[in-house]
This record gives sequence, C-alpha cells and structure tokens, in this order.
Amino acid sequence: MDQPIRYYSTNRQVPPTDLGRALLQGLAADRGLFLPERYPQWTRPELEALKELTYPEVAHAVLRRYTAGSLTDGDLERLCAEAYDYEVPLERVTKNTHLLRLDRGPTASFKDFAARMMARWMGHFLADDGGELVILTATSGDTGSAVAHAFFGVERIRVVVLFPVAEVSDRQRRQMTTLGGNVSTIAVEGKFDDCQALVKEAFSDPELGGLHLTSANSINIGRLLPQSVYYVYAYTRLADVAAGESITFCVPSGNFGDMMGGVIARRMGIPMRRLLIATNANDEVPRFLSTGRYEKVVPSRVCISNAMNVGHPSNLARLVDVYGGRMDETGALTTDPDLDAMRRDLYAVAVNDDCTRRTIREAYEQHGVVLEPHGAVGWAGLMRYFEEHPQEAEHLTVSLETAHPAKFPEEIRTCIGLDPPIPPSLIGLDALEESYESMSADYGCFRAHLLANFA
Ligand SMILES: *Cc1c(COP(=O)(O)O)cnc(C)c1O
Repeated sequence: MDQPIRYYSTNRQVPPTDLGRALLQGLAADRGLFLPERYPQWTRPELEALKELTYPEVAHAVLRRYTAGSLTDGDLERLCAEAYDYEVPLERVTKNTHLLRLDRGPTASFKDFAARMMARWMGHFLADDGGELVILTATSGDTGSAVAHAFFGVERIRVVVLFPVAEVSDRQRRQMTTLGGNVSTIAVEGKFDDCQALVKEAFSDPELGGLHLTSANSINIGRLLPQSVYYVYAYTRLADVAAGESITFCVPSGNFGDMMGGVIARRMGIPMRRLLIATNANDEVPRFLSTGRYEKVVPSRVCISNAMNVGHPSNLARLVDVYGGRMDETGALTTDPDLDAMRRDLYAVAVNDDCTRRTIREAYEQHGVVLEPHGAVGWAGLMRYFEEHPQEAEHLTVSLETAHPAKFPEEIRTCIGLDPPIPPSLIGLDALEESYESMSADYGCFRAHLLANFA
C-alpha cells in the first residue's frame, strides 16, 4: 500500500491535510484549492495490467493510491462497484479517432462520474466524523442534477442547488427539481456567475458559521480525482501500452475540472501527446495561453453548450499551480506559470455557436455520429487542431462527449432533424412534479433563506 497522500492548498496559507478533511471542507480555509502533494506513478507493466479490468476495477486501482490511509481497500472497491454500474462506451469514429461517451450515468452527463464517487466518500467520512453537512452547489446545467442525484437520500447531508433560471434546458431543470427529500433547488434570476458568487459569499460569511457548509462544485478535490480515471481507462483500452504509444485527448471545458482530470492522468504517467481544451465563446483560457495575460469574461457569454458558460473558471488556479505559478481566487496572477511548458502540453481553442451547430451536422453527415452541443465543441476543437497540425491526425486520439444528446432535443432536432432516443435515465422525467424556490441574485435573500431553513 502507498504512503498516504496529503492535500495542499494552492494559496499555501494552511498546512496540507488528509483526503477526508480536504473533501469535507471543499475550499481550503485560506480560500485556495486542494491538490495532491504527489501523483502516484504508473509503470508500463502496471498500466498494461489495467487492460483486463472493468471500469469500476480501473477506478479502484487508480483511486486507491489517493485514498490510502483514509479508506480501506475493501470499502473503496465496494464504492467503485456501486458508483460505476453503467456503461462507458468508446466509439471509433475514424481510423485513429475515438469518442468517449461519458453520458450513461443516471443524469446523463459526465458529472455523474465525479458526483457519485464524491457523495460516497463524503457519506463515509461524515459517518466517521458524526457531523452534518449542507452542500451548496451552483450549476450551469449539469452539476446540479448530478450532485442532487448522487447525494439524494444520503444521511446527514442536505443539498441546495442554485441554477440560472433562463440558462438551463427544460430537462436539465427537471432533473434537479423533481427529487425532493434532502435536495432543495433555487431558481436564481441571474447568470451562472451570479449563482457561483452567492455560493462563494455564503462560504466566507461569518454569520453562517454555525452551518457546516461545503461545496460540491469542481473546486472540491473529490470531484477531480475520479475524473482522472476515464483518461486512464480510455488510454489502456486503446493504446499499445507495452510499446509506450502516446495519445491525444480533447476536452470540452467550462470550469476546467474535467481537464484537470486529464492533467492528473498525465502526471501519473499516461503518455499524452497533448491535452486539447475546447471552450465555447467564453474564451478566457485560450486567450491566456496565447497571450500570457488573464482576463475574465464578465459577464459570461450565453452559448448553446450551456454547462460551459463560465467566464472565470475556478480550476484555472490549479492548472497554473501545476505549472509552477500562483493565481488567487480573484484570478490575479501573483507568479507566472511556465507558459512554454503549458503550450507544449496543452492546446486551447474557442468554438462559437455557429461552428458548434455546423459540427453537429457534419459529424452526423460524415460519420453518422450524434453529438450534443458540448461534445460538438470538443469535436470542433479537435478538427481545428488537425487542420493546424495535420500529422497529428495519424496518432491515437480520444474526444470526450460529456452529455447525452437527449438532454438537448430542441437543438439536435434543429441541426439534424432527428429526435435523439431518450436513455432509460431520462424516461418519465417530463411527467414528474417539480418543486423549487425562486430568488433574485441578492445575497441578503440567500442568507436569509439558509438561516431560515438550515440553522
Ligand atoms: C460541466 C460540463 C462541461 C464542462 O466541464 P468542466 O469540468 O466545467 O470544464 C462540459 N460538458 C458538459 C455536458 C458539462 O455538464
């Protein structure tokens, strides 16, 4: 068994801590983000051995090295089997290019992978600790439902989800508002950034000190570690591991938590040529990589890939940290990262809505593949990369599809005249009764609501 890994804060003002505390706190007390002090290394023979394993077994093999000292092997193995009881399809699209469909979980987006593991970890650590927890989550579309479903019915935990009323699809909203029980939802008259700002303010509000508030957004390290697993899984399924074959991944990105999973996989020894990052018109990170200057997009731009409408991604501070720089929570760079190394390892591109829609049509006409807006941003980014670097198309490549097309039926119908088949997880949803509060984007109202319901 590995030595336990400790988790440090990107702001370095508090000492490193263990996984359980990092998870239950969410944000570090100095408002930094937790990262592991080291990344366990995988040798080729060890990676080769993963080829024979199922997804839950790979998850167990990868995650046990991060949970050592906090969870027993048997407990983790059971949690992985429970959390990952659905398919993880890898579809071949062209000779070298594949699509990894991360949309078969209960809420039909990739966020199920992280939320289901994090909920189980939190439930476990909380049972040891004896406390109670209120999880505040701002959602741009899919986090809310994944978190709500993952924590639904978990003892000692209550969940509050805030969503921008005009920016989520009908089915995305219904997935959050039809659960009830320990899950409550608030429709905020504002943008995702407003929701995120309300949540952040609550975390640092001394008047709410009596509530044990924490976050299930991708600021939580419990979200990132499980998201490294599918990179390892896809690589070991497809690559000639013994020969050390390298791979390119392309990730549609908003808050950059998914991308951080790829960064962690690379640090563990997955031979990655480049990690491609595709954003929608919220292009602050592509501009940062090209100019070295970081400017948030305020307010964030509304695009059809709504779960990626993020103008100031929280995980950028982690990426900067991994490359030797420092960025505080406001986005101010106090130490520059190694930009040359970042440009060698990463490639970032912004894709607008016109190009996203065109890509949905072309992928269907040319390959018979149905993409939804987020996966189409990724695929479009990959095509742009191949245009600029044609020789790279000769290498093994995986593009991530992060949601099920049936979550965006109107858009798919407009683009390709097809009604995407509804996966079992969404059947019956349209008939369930909804219940949620409505609120202006005003912190005073939000605080009053929390004190009235949770104090
Ligand atoms: C959340 C989300 C993304 C973006 O993931 P980040 O980790 O925020 O970059 C992409 N696609 C879908 C469908 C999502 O729900």
